[in-house]
Amino acid sequence: MTASSKQPGDLTALTSLKGVGPRMVEKLARLNLQRVQDLLFHLPLRYEDRTRIVAIGGLHHSDRAVIEGVVEHSAISFSRSGRQRRRILMVHLADGTGAIKLRFFNFSKAQQEKLSKGKRLRCYGEVRRVTNHLEMIHPEFSEILAQAEAEAVEKQTLTAIYPATEGVHQLTLKNLIDQALALLNAKDSNFLIDYLTADDLINIPAANAIDLKSAINFIHRPPPEVQVAQLEQGQHPSQQRLAFEELLAHQLSLQQLRQKIQSQAGEALSDGAELLQAYIKQLPFELTTAQKKVIEAVQKDIAQPRPMLRLVQGDVGSGKTVVAFAACLMAVKSGRQAAVMAPTEILAEQHYQNFSLWAEQLGLTIAWLSGKTKIKQRREMLQIIKNGAANIVVGTHALFQDEVEFKHLSMVVIDEQHRFGVHQRLALKNKGVSAHQLIMTATPIPRTLAMTAYGDLDVSVIDELPPGRTPIKTVVLPEVRRPDVIQRVAAAIAEGSQVYWVCTLVEESEVLQCQAAEETQLLLQQQMPAFSIGLVHGRMKSAEKESVMQQFKNKEINLLVATTVIEVGVDVPNASLMIIENAERLGLSQLHQLRGRVGRGSAASSCVLIYSQPLSKTAKKRLAVMRETNSGFDIAEEDLKIRGPGEVLGTKQTGMMQFRIADILRDEALIPVVHQAAEKIVKQFPDLAEPIIRRWLSGAEQYGEV
Ligand code: ADP
Ligand code: MG
Repeated sequence: MTASSKQPGDLTALTSLKGVGPRMVEKLARLNLQRVQDLLFHLPLRYEDRTRIVAIGGLHHSDRAVIEGVVEHSAISFSRSGRQRRRILMVHLADGTGAIKLRFFNFSKAQQEKLSKGKRLRCYGEVRRVTNHLEMIHPEFSEILAQAEAEAVEKQTLTAIYPATEGVHQLTLKNLIDQALALLNAKDSNFLIDYLTADDLINIPAANAIDLKSAINFIHRPPPEVQVAQLEQGQHPSQQRLAFEELLAHQLSLQQLRQKIQSQAGEALSDGAELLQAYIKQLPFELTTAQKKVIEAVQKDIAQPRPMLRLVQGDVGSGKTVVAFAACLMAVKSGRQAAVMAPTEILAEQHYQNFSLWAEQLGLTIAWLSGKTKIKQRREMLQIIKNGAANIVVGTHALFQDEVEFKHLSMVVIDEQHRFGVHQRLALKNKGVSAHQLIMTATPIPRTLAMTAYGDLDVSVIDELPPGRTPIKTVVLPEVRRPDVIQRVAAAIAEGSQVYWVCTLVEESEVLQCQAAEETQLLLQQQMPAFSIGLVHGRMKSAEKESVMQQFKNKEINLLVATTVIEVGVDVPNASLMIIENAERLGLSQLHQLRGRVGRGSAASSCVLIYSQPLSKTAKKRLAVMRETNSGFDIAEEDLKIRGPGEVLGTKQTGMMQFRIADILRDEALIPVVHQAAEKIVKQFPDLAEPIIRRWLSGAEQYGEV
C-alpha cells in the first residue's frame, strides 16, 4: 500500500455492529467513539489475568489474581472510625498451599451466607500484605458448586479492562471490540490503514518491528503466556508501536496548532521600554540577570507580527511574577489589554494584590475575575474589561468564560501551566484575538518532555534565584519526634518568625483532609496557647481564605495550618519555617512546591518533613533528595530517575496531556524519532497528518479547534 492510495478516512458506522442502535451510539459518543475503527483505538487501561488459578501460598503483595479455596472461618467484627461503628466481615480462605483473609465492609445477609464456613469459593482481587498476613479487600467472588465449574476459567487471553462509562460496561465494550477485531482480521480487510509503513514513510524501529494490525490485536487480546506485570512496563513492541503513533498524532496536532496560531497575523507590540523602566524603578530590588534575559526575549518576540508562544521555566521563588507583569506592560504600553491567569483562587488573588500595588503607582487599572466574584462586582468587572478601562485582568479560569469580552486583548500570561490543559489555552485563544502567550511553570521538565507536552514552544529558563536567599535547610524526622518539632515551632515564633504547618492525608476525600487540618489546628492551639494559629483549607469560602492569608501576611497569625492548597505560589517572605506532616505521601515536585513557600525572605529558613512508618523505598529516596538539594531542576531530574519507566506521571503533570498508551517519561527515547517523523509527514505527506490525528485524538474536545 502506498501513502497516496489511502482511503478517505476510516469510516465504518457503529450501527453496522450487532447490538448497536441509536441509543448505544449516543452512549459510545461519550467515550469519543464514533466509528467502528475508533473502537480499535479504545485501548485497555490495564489487564487482568483470569486465565489461571494462583496458589494462595504463591501470592505476593499487590498481585491481582484468581484464587480458589475453602472458607475455614467467617465472622463479623467491628471497627471504629470517628464516631461510627463499622461492620466488617472477615473470611479466612485456604487452599492447602496457604491462607488469606477476605475483608468485606458492605455485605448482605445473602452474601454472608455465601461466604460461610465450608464454602468453596473462587475469588478475584488485589492482594495486600497487612502486617504479617495477606488480604483481599472486597474481592469478586463466586461459589464453586461442582468440579466442572472449577474449570470454567477464561483460558483464551488476558482480560483487558477498558475505560467505560454509564451504560457502556466492560462486557459491552469487550463484545463491540471483538466485532471490530473480527472486521480487522477478515481476509483482504482494508479496514485499517497502517500509515507508518506506507511508502517506507518512516524508518522507525517501533513501526518496523510490528505492523499496526498485529499490534492492535495484541493490545486488545494479549495471549495468556504474557505476564500482566510485563505489560505494565509498556515495553512490548506492540505497545511501543502504538505509543509511537499516539505521540506522533499529538506532535502533529501540536504542530498544526502552532502553525494555526502563528499563521494568524499577530500584532507587533511596542517593547514598552519607558513604562517598564518606571515599573522597575519602583521595585525595592534589582532584577536578576535571568529575569532581565527573559524580559528581553519577550520584548523581541512581541516585536514580531506573529503571536508569541513562549514557555518560561523558573524554579519556585525565582521571581516569575515580575516577569509576568513586565510582559503585561508591553501590551498596556501599546494601548492593549493583558490577561493573567492562575490555577487557584489563592494564587490569582495574590497576583491581583501584587499587580494592584504596582499598577497604582503607574496609574493603571487592574480588573479581577474569579469563579467566586459576586454578581455586582462581576458586572462591573465585565464592563471595564469590555470597554477597555481595565488595562490588565487577573483571574482564575473564569477568564475563559464566554461572557468575558475584552476590548483588545494582546497578551495572555498563564501561570503554573501544568495545571491547565491544552484546551484551556485554546479557549483563551478563542477570545477572538491572536494574543501573545507567555506560559510560566515552576515544574521544570527535561527539554524533550517539554517539547512533547507543549509542542515546539520557545523556552526560556530563569536559572537564578534572587540574591541573598539562604538555602532552605531541610530535616527529615519520624512522627515520634513531633514534640520536638512543636518546641522548635514555638521557639521560631518566639523569635518573630512565622510558620506553615501543612497537613496531608492519604484519604482522597477533601472533606476528611479539611477535617484533619481543623483537628491539627485545635491540637496545636492547645499545645501553644500563647500564639495565634490560623487555618486555611480548600473548603473554606474564598473571602474567608483571603482574610486568613491577609492576616498571615500582616503577621497577625503566627502559625498557619493548611492543607496542600498553599502548594502553589503563596508568597509571605517572613515565613521561615515549614512543617509538612506525612511528607512520605507526597511526590517530589509537590514537596518542592510546598517547601518553596519558605526561604523567600532574607532570614535562614528551614523545612521539617515529618514521616510516619513504614517508609517505602521510594519514599525514603524522595525524602533524601529533599534533604540534599534545593534546586528544582535537580529535583525534577531525580524525580524522573526515581520513578523511572513504568511508573505513572503524577496527575498534575499528566493534566497537561492525557495519553491512551504513551507515557512521556517511559517513552522518552521515542520522542526525537517522533519529531523527525512528524517533520517528514508535514513536508512530504501532508495528507497523512489529518487521518493520524483523527484516529488518536478524535472527539477530544481540546482538538476540536485545531
Ligand atoms: P515565583 O517564581 O515562585 O512565582 P515570585 O514571583 O512569587 O516567585 O517571587 C518570589 C519572591 O521573590 C517575591 O517576594 C518577590 O517579590 C521576590 N523577588 C522577585 N524578584 C526579585 C529580585 N530580583 N530580587 C529580590 N527579590 C525578588
Ligand atoms: Mg509564582
